[in-house]
Order: sequence, then structure tokens, then C-alpha cells
Amino acid sequence: MAKKLIVANWKMNGSIAKIEHDLSVYKTNALTNSPNVVFALPMPYLYQTIDLGAGFGVACQDISQFCGFGAYTGEISAAMLLEFNVKYTLVGHSERRAAIGEDNSLLAKKLENLISVGITPILCIGEPRSIRDSGKYQGFLIDQLSLLTSLNVEVLELVIAYEPIWAIGTGKTPTIEEITEIVNLIHSFVQKTSAHAKILVLYGGSVTGKNIADILHIPEIAGVLVGGASLKVDEFTAICTEA
Ligand code: PEP
Repeated sequence: MAKKLIVANWKMNGSIAKIEHDLSVYKTNALTNSPNVVFALPMPYLYQTIDLGAGFGVACQDISQFCGFGAYTGEISAAMLLEFNVKYTLVGHSERRAAIGEDNSLLAKKLENLISVGITPILCIGEPRSIRDSGKYQGFLIDQLSLLTSLNVEVLELVIAYEPIWAIGTGKTPTIEEITEIVNLIHSFVQKTSAHAKILVLYGGSVTGKNIADILHIPEIAGVLVGGASLKVDEFTAICTEA
């Protein structure tokens, strides 16, 4: 059975000293040489992550909508990330959708750029609490997924992370049945709209050392996206050990 994918999203946290410390602890415990354990650290620390990585996967938290090289001050392209052996990049995290107003047409460009250079996007989708309570969450998520049908790519291969916004950083998680319902929804949408696509589905939102085992037992779940708990060495070790 393939190992589960564990993606650590450090968001805008960390420092040279913290990365050096945390990764050296992970290197001395059972996590060494675990390409399924992937660190999405802030961009300035990319080189350090690779240097100290000891076989971990490297991801970015975002990517430019523009491709290649050129006059786009402040932007970082997918082509640049290739030089750093970046395997995955988050796209459309709810914090970026909310704070920066990223929408489907912008996210489609990012997905196309990544796929064209061979970096696997991790597309984040998830509904706010009000939409969950209204019962209209399936339609909301399908709308977020619909950008996949507009992509101009030869082969559609990506990771989709279901991250209900109300579960992010709150300590509240959906029930196993609720996660299962959405995992199945994602698979059936992709099957119907792009039969040849290859996808993996992750869950994210308040994953901890305590709930990880139950989450990883969900059929068709390929792993988890971990925010807050990935900043705590003991907690993250416990999560990775389950995978
Ligand atoms: C996230 O923001 O991607 C996330 C999963 O956060 P947390 O684990 O802290 O809920």
C-alpha cells in the first residue's frame, strides 16, 4: 500500500533557527528519507529546506499566475521552483482566497503553469461555516472544482485537499462520515468530468496526533494537509508515524 502523503503547511511562520532545529530532530528520528512527508515552508527558506531535508519532499505555498521569466516584480514562477526540486505547490488555500481574492480564473492559470512544468498542484477547496449550515456545501465545492474542466493541459494530474474553512485552526473537525462524503464527491466529480485525470484527495483542518489515525482510515483518503500541528515537533512526528 502506498504511504500516505503528509504535507506540512507552515504558512508565514518559521525562521532559519527553527527550521534547522526541527529538521535535525526529524532527521534523527524515524522520518528520515520520507519523500511522502512534504514541507511547505515560506519561500525564503526553500534552499535551507532542501539542504537539511534528508529526503523529505519540498513544496511551496503559492506560485505566480505568470509563467517562465520576465517583468513581473515580486513574482516567483513554476519554472524557478523546478531548480529547487519542488514537487508540490499549494494553490487556492482558503487564506489566499479570502485575503487576496483569488478566484477560479486566477487559480486555473496557476494550475496550468505548475502542470506544464511537472510540479503537482495541491488545489485546496473548502466551504465556510455558513455554507455548511445552509446545507448547500456540495454545490459550493463543485463550483470550486469546476475550474478543473477549463484547464488547458494535456494530462490532468493533481492533489485536491478538502479543507473546510471552519475546521482550519479551530480545533473542530468534521466527522469521519462528513469527510468521507466530500472525498467521494470529489472523486465522482473528477471521474465524470475528466475520466483520465489522476487525483489524490487529502483532508486538512485541525489534524492532530489524536485524530490522524481515524482520518487516514477513511477509504480513498491519500493523506493530510497539516497547519498548526506541523509547527510542533512532537505532534508532527506522531502524525507522520501514522502514515
Ligand atoms: C491549513 O491551513 O492548511 C491547515 C490545515 O491548518 P490547521 O491544521 O492549523 O487547521
